[in-house]
Amino acid sequence: MSQRFLQTPIEYLKGMGPQRGDLLRKELGIHTFQDLMHLFPNRYLDRTTYHKINQLRNSNADVQVIGKIINLKTVAQKRGKRLVATFVDDTGTMELVWFRGHKWIREHLKINEPYVVFGKVNLFNGLFSMPHPDMEVWKEHKNKRRAALQPLYPSTEKLTNSGITNKLMRSLIAQLFQDSQLQFRETLPEALRAELRLMGKKEAMISIHFPPHNSALAKAQYRLKFEELFYVQLQLIQKNLLHKSKFKGHPFPEVGAYFNTFYETHLPFELTDAQKRVIKEIRNDLGSVAQMNRLLQGDVGSGKTIVAFMSMLIALDNGFQACLMAPTEILAVQHYQGLQEWCALMDIEIALLTGTTKASERKGLFSDLESGQLQLLVGTHALLEDPVVFHNLGLAIIDEQHRFGVAQRSKLWKKNVRPPHILVMTATPIPRTLAMSLYGDLDISTIDELPPGRKDIKTVHRYDANRLNVFRFLKEEIAKGRQVYIVYPLIQESATMDYKDLMDGYESIVREFPLPQYQVSIVHGKMKSTDKDYEMERFVKGETNIMVATTVIEVGVNVPNASVMVIESAERFGLSQLHQLRGRVGRGAEQSYCILMTGAKLSEDAKTRLQTMVQTTDGFEIAETDLKLRGPGNLMGTQQSGMLTLQIADITKDGPILKIARSYAQQLLQKDPNLSEAAHQNVLFTLREIGKDRGLWKYIS
Ligand code: ADP
Ligand code: MG
Repeated sequence: MSQRFLQTPIEYLKGMGPQRGDLLRKELGIHTFQDLMHLFPNRYLDRTTYHKINQLRNSNADVQVIGKIINLKTVAQKRGKRLVATFVDDTGTMELVWFRGHKWIREHLKINEPYVVFGKVNLFNGLFSMPHPDMEVWKEHKNKRRAALQPLYPSTEKLTNSGITNKLMRSLIAQLFQDSQLQFRETLPEALRAELRLMGKKEAMISIHFPPHNSALAKAQYRLKFEELFYVQLQLIQKNLLHKSKFKGHPFPEVGAYFNTFYETHLPFELTDAQKRVIKEIRNDLGSVAQMNRLLQGDVGSGKTIVAFMSMLIALDNGFQACLMAPTEILAVQHYQGLQEWCALMDIEIALLTGTTKASERKGLFSDLESGQLQLLVGTHALLEDPVVFHNLGLAIIDEQHRFGVAQRSKLWKKNVRPPHILVMTATPIPRTLAMSLYGDLDISTIDELPPGRKDIKTVHRYDANRLNVFRFLKEEIAKGRQVYIVYPLIQESATMDYKDLMDGYESIVREFPLPQYQVSIVHGKMKSTDKDYEMERFVKGETNIMVATTVIEVGVNVPNASVMVIESAERFGLSQLHQLRGRVGRGAEQSYCILMTGAKLSEDAKTRLQTMVQTTDGFEIAETDLKLRGPGNLMGTQQSGMLTLQIADITKDGPILKIARSYAQQLLQKDPNLSEAAHQNVLFTLREIGKDRGLWKYIS
């Protein structure tokens, strides 16, 4: 269709006019004909099916019932009155309810006359009731021709109040389709369309707005979702390819002595298949000229550290330095201590740099780093400070990615003429579908397998009323020599209240677990960081039995002897946070436990979260459920992504379509990277149109 026509300002549509045009612009962001064409219905009313009263369900769908009114009465309520009609068919009884307009209804409704009523029902005192139903006398309804599936367009209160009803929208869109003469440009390559049996663009556009029947609607939705996701993926993959051609990294062709020696003689355990696969992926990246930009995701305890170490060995084998950056001092120290043992086996020079590294130590460290004598540097944000100058940094690894912003990451690069390869490690599993769409421009490696012999963490849900039993259990575990975490929520807005809960909780625990038999630590965000570290140290060393804490312990601390995690007010935590907290235990050889404490009153969402935690320890499964419960908008990182502005696809539901779209987008760009083949001219054209301006859809047509 001609771009000219599509770019016509909305007010020029017959029947629209400047006032309505203005409202549509303001309320729905619809500026042009094209925008209006891509305002897709968010629901359809199915007026082909009639329900019997005994088939009604308490769902959110609109239903249509044939029956008659046998009685009409006014019922007084707190404020005002409501009018209630008893409505029956041959299977049962329901009620129709009005809260206003009583007079008109009383005068016009006929008792014992067959009607069709249409609307949502809810269960109220054991009876279904339909508030403010759409009603039509059956005799008239029967003889009317109507569209079987009526589209409902997105709207706002302002629009409805200004008379821009759904009916008007439908007629405006019908007008637009008529004016357009239905000339739609096909945006997908013919071969692809044939292979996947996708509906043509024109037919899809017509069917989405004026569906003749359910199966045409389903095909149209599939085609348009596919198209939308296909173009998102094309853009992301192109960006990735561009990055690779623009940013050259240091190619590491050698896999040499360090890597091989470690692999052949010092490997402390057999690598899991997932670890082997991921190391191979990283090796491939490092061997090519393009700069690596890879996300390594793997659940807590899946063994990311050794993957990081072996990747660093490849840098060293090629005469380059490597660094590992952690979000907290405690984690940096733990990493340093672990890696140091392995380095000692192979005479590798390694050092630790954090905020508390003494000035006297720093001096030597900096000069060794600059001369290249120091091969591996582990640390915190301190690595980003100005005096830190590498001789030749070839690989930077960032642990627990969400604590570092993109800006900080690029700070690490600026120190070098050629950017180092970057590996970002995260223990927050991202559902595959989300990862594909959010990080389509990052490469992703996934460790989806835990080392063998791990015992599953036993997870239970207990009510506050059962606290004494829980305490008894904790005492038994402590008697066996184990340590316990007790975590309280600390959430920004109600921090004062939460803080009080924490302190009250701490006091009651100290009372229940008295000195000298028990040692209880406490750590929270309001403490000075030296005090925090001191208490953390005591717990790490096994000097205290119980660690009462807020979520500050969420990130990466490793205390293998801690085998019980008690989470207070667990209903207030999100799923991914619960999963992260649980990951603090189950690190040793002992059976570990996670106890989710809650009050008696729980929302449906909270119940689902708790059930999910009790049923599974699989981080990816948990992440999928989290995505479904919260929607993509609330998950980490999605705010910046285009995924929120999708017009028709929904990544929480359309993962399977996304996967196919991604793989076809990859194939297309592999076969024809510049989209120069004649058969792909429409793709090239569409991508250019998308690139010119605002959102993705605005220019697909
Ligand atoms: P995370 O992915 O959470 O960073 P770590 O790298 O800290 O996990 O590994 C967790 C624990 O599992 C460590 O004690 C590590 O030595 C051990 N581990 C890692 N890989 C394996 C393996 N393939 N077999 C046995 N133990 C392993
Ligand atoms: Mg780790």
